[in-house]
Amino acid sequence: MTTCRLCLRHRKLCKSHIVPEFLYIPLYDSDRELMAITGRGSQGWKPLNKGIWEFLLCDDCEQHLNREFEQPFQNQWARDDALPKRMTKDDVHTGTFDYASFKLFHLSILFRASVSSNPMFRAVRLGLHEDRIRKMLLDKDAGHQWEYPLLAFAVTNSHNQVERRVITRPVAARYDGHSVYGQIYAGAMWWISASSHPNVTFCQGGLRQSGEITFRAESWDAIGVMQDASVALNASRRIDISKRGKVVF
Ligand SMILES: [Zn+2]
Repeated sequence: MTTCRLCLRHRKLCKSHIVPEFLYIPLYDSDRELMAITGRGSQGWKPLNKGIWEFLLCDDCEQHLNREFEQPFQNQWARDDALPKRMTKDDVHTGTFDYASFKLFHLSILFRASVSSNPMFRAVRLGLHEDRIRKMLLDKDAGHQWEYPLLAFAVTNSHNQVERRVITRPVAARYDGHSVYGQIYAGAMWWISASSHPNVTFCQGGLRQSGEITFRAESWDAIGVMQDASVALNASRRIDISKRGKVVF
């Protein structure tokens, strides 16, 4: 028994995935393995056969996140018009989703990263925003579009395919005086601005209250966390990183 990080009750805790396990499924090869790119060891990567988990949440909270945010996201994201299979540089695509469940799904991953003690998620430290987001998740309250706005880029590989087989560690950055966090999963780089005053760029370019969100294509070559992964692998031996699903630590 210990404290559930979402409801704060003393409960038996589950093996909670920080990034939901269903997002790892496209990454596995036929041996149910994926590349965990760590930059360490002789190869710079190691095989992994399960997503990153930690004892974080009670069973009720796991089910709450799954039922309210993960399943709706999965259903909406599986639609053909959610994100094209191919995009070239600077292509844009606008999709329409359920505003509340779509936004809270991404906030739930950011929240889990913030409460995680796994080094992969060390960049995310939400401070006072952690408890605000915790309550939003419990109350199913996605807030106004200027609260924790969500901006997204479709990530394309060297074959102009939207690359759905990558999950990276989250990264933290400053943008116009705001703390922003970015992470790649489900074919896109998702950025969330976590600050107490409106981030105008994120509000204008990100998820709108109508549920519309516009994805601009961005090549993974141009994304810092993917450049780091490429350097980590090239330091040992050259591997075509488009071949296998990968998690970037
Ligand atoms: Zn709980």
